[in-house]
Amino acid sequence: MLMGLESFGIQFLIINFYTPKTPPMIIYGTRSTELAKELISEKCGHCGKQNTIDLHLFQKYAHVFWIPFFALSKTGVSQCDHCKEVLKAKEMPQSISSAYSDLKSKSKTPLWTFSGLALLVVLIFAVVIISQRNDAKNAQLVLAPQVNDIFEIRTTDNQYTIYKVAEVQKDSVFVYVNNFETNKMSGLNDLKKRGTGAYADFVVPLAKIELKRMLEAGEIMDIERN
Ligand SMILES: [Zn+2]
Repeated sequence: MLMGLESFGIQFLIINFYTPKTPPMIIYGTRSTELAKELISEKCGHCGKQNTIDLHLFQKYAHVFWIPFFALSKTGVSQCDHCKEVLKAKEMPQSISSAYSDLKSKSKTPLWTFSGLALLVVLIFAVVIISQRNDAKNAQLVLAPQVNDIFEIRTTDNQYTIYKVAEVQKDSVFVYVNNFETNKMSGLNDLKKRGTGAYADFVVPLAKIELKRMLEAGEIMDIERN
């Protein structure tokens, strides 16, 4: 337990939250979109007709919940409009294959196929910026604690609880320690909703310098001030 609080005779109740056994289902896979279609003049090797072969070029991309995530390879086929013969890139004779290569090299990968990846990068940046701002805010708050400040605490055995500031003195604060612990950070909201009755009815002293150390060590995860 954190900082030998047992020595104050504090008994914690552990709230275990239900954890679903199966993770949420993520739907992902690959899809293709037609990039280009071109009629070529090469003779069909199957029926011998000329000007009947269409090249179809496809862009393959990975999707997550149907949001295009990133581009994969380009694929394609040739199809004779007369005899309907369809050839994959590997099966094309030299003449068709070189027209296919030309079409492939002049068709650019559309940027929208990277939408999901771009979105993810933006989200990560946003999370990092928000987290940095919050860290800076907490660093300010911990230096000048006020009555009713709530400290979100991670205990040494990776449980979570909250302290509420009862009194502030020159070099120290007195906190009420919540009677409950939770095994999930998200459970802290539940603890807050339990109100003042959920705190021990006596206060525990903490040096301000100790609060600062706890914040830097990640034992105080967040500070809430209303
Ligand atoms: Zn043909």
